[in-house]
Formats: sequence, C-alpha cells, structure tokens
Amino acid sequence: MKAHVLGAGVAGLCVAAELVARGCEVTVFDPAPRPGPHGCSWWAGGMLAPVCESETAEEPVFRLGHEAADWWDRQGVTVERRGTTVVALGRDRRELDRFARRTRGHEWLDADGLAALEPDLAGRFDRALHVPSEAHLDPRAALLHLRDRLERDGVSFIAEPGRPEGLTFDCRGLAARDVLPDLRGVKGEMAVLRSADIRLSRPIRLLHPRIPLYIVPRADGLFMLGATQIESDDRRRSVRSVLELLSAAYALHPAFGEAELVEIGADARPAFPENLPRVIRLGDTFYVNGLFRHGFLLAPALARMAAEAALDGTTPEFCHEDHS
Ligand SMILES: Cc1cc2nc3c(=O)[nH]c(=O)nc-3n(C[C@H](O)[C@H](O)[C@H](O)COP(=O)(O)OP(=O)(O)OC[C@H]3O[C@@H](n4cnc5c(N)ncnc54)[C@H](O)[C@@H]3O)c2cc1C
Repeated sequence: MKAHVLGAGVAGLCVAAELVARGCEVTVFDPAPRPGPHGCSWWAGGMLAPVCESETAEEPVFRLGHEAADWWDRQGVTVERRGTTVVALGRDRRELDRFARRTRGHEWLDADGLAALEPDLAGRFDRALHVPSEAHLDPRAALLHLRDRLERDGVSFIAEPGRPEGLTFDCRGLAARDVLPDLRGVKGEMAVLRSADIRLSRPIRLLHPRIPLYIVPRADGLFMLGATQIESDDRRRSVRSVLELLSAAYALHPAFGEAELVEIGADARPAFPENLPRVIRLGDTFYVNGLFRHGFLLAPALARMAAEAALDGTTPEFCHEDHS
C-alpha cells in the first residue's frame, strides 16, 4: 500500500518507520530537506522519562511512554539507560517530597548514594530521588539516524510541502493549525553548554516551584539545559528565561559558571488543550499531533496506533474520528 507522510519531525519519521515495517511504500514530504532547527524536534532534550513526566502528565503518558526506549533501540538509535536523578536545593526540599508522592518507580538516595551515582554531585545534596527505569537519547542524532535509515529502506523524501492524494499521515506539528484549530504552541527555551569540568552520567532534574530544570548530558562535554514552558507560540528567547536556566545550572554545580555557552534555542511545542496527543481521522488523512513535551517519548506509540488504525482498521486510544 502507498502512504504519504507530511512532516519529517519526530512524529512524521516515527510514522514512516511504522508504515515501512508494515510493508508500505512511503513518501515523506517536508519543505526542509533534513531535520534541523526549523522543527520543534530539533530542540528537545531527548529524555525518555515517563515516570518523571507523570508528576504532571496524565496516565497514558506514563503507560505509553514505556514503549519508547525499546522502540528507539530497535531503530538502531543509541539509547542511554541510566535512569534519571532528581534533586532540590535546600529551600525547595519540600518539592522533592511532593514529587515522590506524585510518582512511582523511584528510590530515595542519601548523600552517599547520590555520590556513588554521580560523583561530581558529591556533597551538594543530602538526598535525592533516582528513577532507574528511565532513559535518554540525543534527539538530533536520533532524527538524522532515523531519516537516513528510512531513506536506505526505500522511503522517498520530497523537499516540498506536498498535497498528496490517498492515504496520508499529517505530522506537520504546529503548521497543522490550518486544519486543527485547537492546536496551540507552548514555548520551550533551552541552552547548550560545554564544560570539561563536570561529568554527569544521566539527566538530572532540579526541582523548583516555578521553573523546574533538567540537564541532559550529551557527548563531547555538552549539556542540554531545559526547558521553559510558556503559553506562547513565539520563538523568541527571552533574557529572563535564559537567566533562569543558567542560574539553575549554576545552582546545580558552580562548575557550570565556567562553561561555554554554545547555543540558546526555543521552539513552540504543539499541544492540544488537555496536553495529550491525538490521532485524528479526516477522510483518508490521519493527523498525528499534539505531542507537547513528549515528542520522543510518545511518538513511537502514536505512530504505532496511527499505522494500526489505517492498515488494520483499529480505533486507537486518543482517536478523534472526523474531528473538526
Ligand atoms: C525545549 C524543548 C525541550 C523538549 N524536550 C523533550 C524531551 O526531552 N523529550 C520529549 O519526548 N519531547 C521533548 N520536547 C517536545 C518535542 O520536541 C515535541 O513534542 C516534538 O518535537 C513535536 O514533533 P512534531 O514532529 O509534531 O513537530 P516538528 O518537529 O515541528 O515537525 C514538524 C515538521 O513538519 C514540517 N512541515 C511544516 N509544514 C509542512 C508542510 N506544509 N508540508 C510538509 N511538512 C511540513 C516542518 O518542516 C517540520 O519538519 C521538547 C520540546 C522543546 C521545545
């Protein structure tokens, strides 16, 4: 069966991979020829953190998010499975208790336990939470790997918007607002730092009542620092947000004060009102959208559901039939 995919962000690439796995002949349309800064997916932290996200997200994020690490592994993407560690500064200690009450699958660490996991944080926090089941990946490397692999598997990539006829999967992210009026943008700002003075083995979340921060280690001494969550679809990087992100990194470890500021970025996450994704069917077109904070976490499950709906006639969770 022939299928068309609009958009080569994380949603479109995951859908294309699921369709190819089911024997479809797939063409992907995206005016940008390769994954890059034009797409929201480029700016992600790459955390596959269903437990931590369940502090504020609905139950399906927790359940379906558990598919993600294995799925990315199967695509040949490097997935780091070292868990997530959660800390809070002295004045925000109650945030750690609140976080523990609202999540499951974590274990408490004392100062020695934290030092054993992350030696560079030794002596900085007297307790922490650790979620051993979580994982992370480098989102840019994952997107580029998946795109190249799909091309090798025979998928055609056309550098045009495309208005195909027949079975179509619309994964245009926020650009699909022309058809999906309740899709909105939620701005996320991030920074990339480089430091040879600190080593972290896993994402660290620093709880804070206003701006919870995470730091995701990447190769070559790079750290992705994220992320704000602002009800806006503008992509400006505000001084306030950058100050808050950098201050939080400095509070986590003063070595970040000497780090090189490599990049500051922002994009608007596509989100529906309930902050859950949707598969929407309108005639021959399936819309896969609203991945919000969970593009890399939920796109594998959404892509599977969309492919099953189109090819097997199932009704996926998050399905909105003929919604308009
Ligand atoms: C700072 C930040 C941190 C984040 N961290 C994480 C994280 O740690 N873990 C996680 O899981 N998620 C994270 N996210 C969320 C994740 O990035 C998004 O949910 C995800 O990128 C949405 O992907 P998408 O494919 O729907 O949209 P996009 O990535 O925006 O892709 C849409 C694509 O559609 C293309 N397009 C536009 N118009 C057309 C057209 N007319 N025809 C064809 N193609 C078109 C665009 O060029 C683009 O390539 C983060 C987001 C931000 C901003």
